[in-house]
Amino acid sequence: MFDKLSDRLGGVFDKLRGRGALKEEDVRAAMREVRIALLEADVALPVVRDFVEKVTEQAVGQSVLKSITPGQQVVKIVNDGLADMLGAEVSGLELAVTPPAIIMMVGLQGSGKTTTTAKIAKRLKDKENKKVMMASLDVNRPAAQEQLAVLGQQISATTLPIVEGQQPVEIAKRALQAAKLQGFDVLMLDTAGRLHVDQQLMDEMKAVADVSKPQETLLVVDALTGQDAVNVASNFSEQVDLSGVVLTRMDGDARGGAALSMRAVTGKPIKFVGVGEKIDALEEFHPERVAGRILG
Ligand code: GDP
Repeated sequence: MFDKLSDRLGGVFDKLRGRGALKEEDVRAAMREVRIALLEADVALPVVRDFVEKVTEQAVGQSVLKSITPGQQVVKIVNDGLADMLGAEVSGLELAVTPPAIIMMVGLQGSGKTTTTAKIAKRLKDKENKKVMMASLDVNRPAAQEQLAVLGQQISATTLPIVEGQQPVEIAKRALQAAKLQGFDVLMLDTAGRLHVDQQLMDEMKAVADVSKPQETLLVVDALTGQDAVNVASNFSEQVDLSGVVLTRMDGDARGGAALSMRAVTGKPIKFVGVGEKIDALEEFHPERVAGRILG
């Protein structure tokens, strides 16, 4: 479907072989191909512009290495630049507080928020031996609370018992109290999803954050939605103090451009990626893998 960027760049640099340094006109020609590759991977336009400018500056004047072709050299510079922008290392969850640590999950309906809540809960249980409680604050979508309860049974994690008619802030307070009294290490709050960013639900989310004071506020976004994902991230990050992002559906054919935009737009690290519907299909985010994917 996509040409490999390194193949495309081969032609640009053919004439450069044997010369001393990467010249501006050649680098600019190569960057036009890089630009196309990034746009095809769904990286947001302003992010592409900044990136291309930065990388051009870095590349011009670099000595042509003997061991690789100039095309490969530019791919390497671009690759390093992408990895840099995505965040150099894996960033985990910051849960070192007097228990319970609170993780608030936010995002649009259908982004994979509830599934991701259970995935993270399972990971904390299995890998870090934490006692985790989950609570659904989604009183808008029918059966959302039941969905979380079913997932809880699957992974043998406690979910807060459902009380009909209770509103999100009240549920959050009850969850906090229950988690404290019952000695849970982590409480995960699955907030109401929304079809699009709407003020009433944003206010509700802020009210929940006020009473629960989460250590982690994770925005869940669907990588397949490309540019929309970027707008969503930008809207949410203006309204709530996010600590990180989870990108779902990275098992699909998203080329990873959303990942790059996400980091640039929110300034927050991507903490996990969802790679399937199964409960253990969650991975730490590895910037260099995504960089490779963006370049094809
Ligand atoms: P919510 O409305 O945001 O809570 O979304 P759900 O958690 O109910 O997920 C919506 C659908 O997406 C479900 O069918 C999930 O199984 C699926 N899903 C969630 N994460 C992933 C993922 O990483 N990859 C794939 N392929 N499907 C996912």
